[in-house]
Amino acid sequence: MLAFVLAFFCLPANAAVQKYQAQFFDVFDTFSQVTVYSSDKEVAQTVTATVYETLLECHQLFDIYNEYEGINNLKTVNDNAGIAPVKVDERLFAMVAYGKEMYYQTNGRMNIAMGSVLKIWHRCRTEGLLSPEKAALPDMDELKQAQRATDIENIILDEENQTIFLADPNMSLDVGALAKGWAVELAADSVQDMGAEGVLLNIGGNVRALGHRGDGSPWRVGVQDPANLSGQESLTVANLSGLSLVTSGDYQRSYTVDGRSYHHIIDPETLMPAEHYRQVTVITEDSGLADALSTALFVMPLEEGLLLLDDFPGVCALWVCKDGTVIRSEGFAEMAGE
Ligand code: AMP
Ligand code: MG
Repeated sequence: MLAFVLAFFCLPANAAVQKYQAQFFDVFDTFSQVTVYSSDKEVAQTVTATVYETLLECHQLFDIYNEYEGINNLKTVNDNAGIAPVKVDERLFAMVAYGKEMYYQTNGRMNIAMGSVLKIWHRCRTEGLLSPEKAALPDMDELKQAQRATDIENIILDEENQTIFLADPNMSLDVGALAKGWAVELAADSVQDMGAEGVLLNIGGNVRALGHRGDGSPWRVGVQDPANLSGQESLTVANLSGLSLVTSGDYQRSYTVDGRSYHHIIDPETLMPAEHYRQVTVITEDSGLADALSTALFVMPLEEGLLLLDDFPGVCALWVCKDGTVIRSEGFAEMAGE
């Protein structure tokens, strides 16, 4: 079950409550760490195993590149675009329904139906990283052609039958903007009542804090400083209990063309990487919402982003602008416990 867990070890906390930590590398193509405070080793082990299993199942369901025997995943849905509705697991259905809803709530800035466009950027990035001397930008005509197949209305959801149908044969879904957060929230839900004092999930920087540390204090979660990516210094440290912290950054997946860096968060209007900020961090309870909004805010000018937050009580954000200026939404310092 935990075949890929590289480490599960116990660290001294206090006499009754111990700290346990496990790490794995095989979900969502990223580094994951689960930290548990518990007075019961078995509880810690069950929490870790449940988190791992939930994330692995989500990883397979939300995968757009690979098939897995016996399940209909997002690749199955994409492969059936224009052909037939696909019956899917309720977790996948709910995530796609949420993604569609978030399109409307973010003025279309976050669009999970943009797979056709993102695929082109993905291909150019992969080729550019493999052969930097041949790195090239996508062809704008090709991007514009692909943009025609991004109409969110062509995602047809049948709640009763739990089917997803992409009515446009050229359409494909890419849920990179919210899948990790959605999965982290499901994992957090599944271990919430297991009796641990505290659980911290860090799935590739997508952080979800439950309960508290062994001494009763909140979890301390650093916000990456984009000006000091290799250093240990954080931009700020959030003290979290019962909250998620998710960051979208221009350095997370990028490649270089003619000496200029191009990252992975694409503005649906210009079809080019959004150029407003270096990084956006969102704090709120639900990790899926935090993930979706960090991407959406990244694509919006600041005024629009601040207005958007009015629609989402209990959400705060921190922007790092291109020139290094740091902007906090109202309530950020308090919510982050800075
Ligand atoms: P995140 O790291 O959560 O900000 O998500 C970035 C990922 O979301 C990218 O790697 C793409 O797969 C996808 N993506 C990029 N731009 C958009 C967009 N405007 N709307 C929806 N998904 C996007
Ligand atoms: Mg996101």
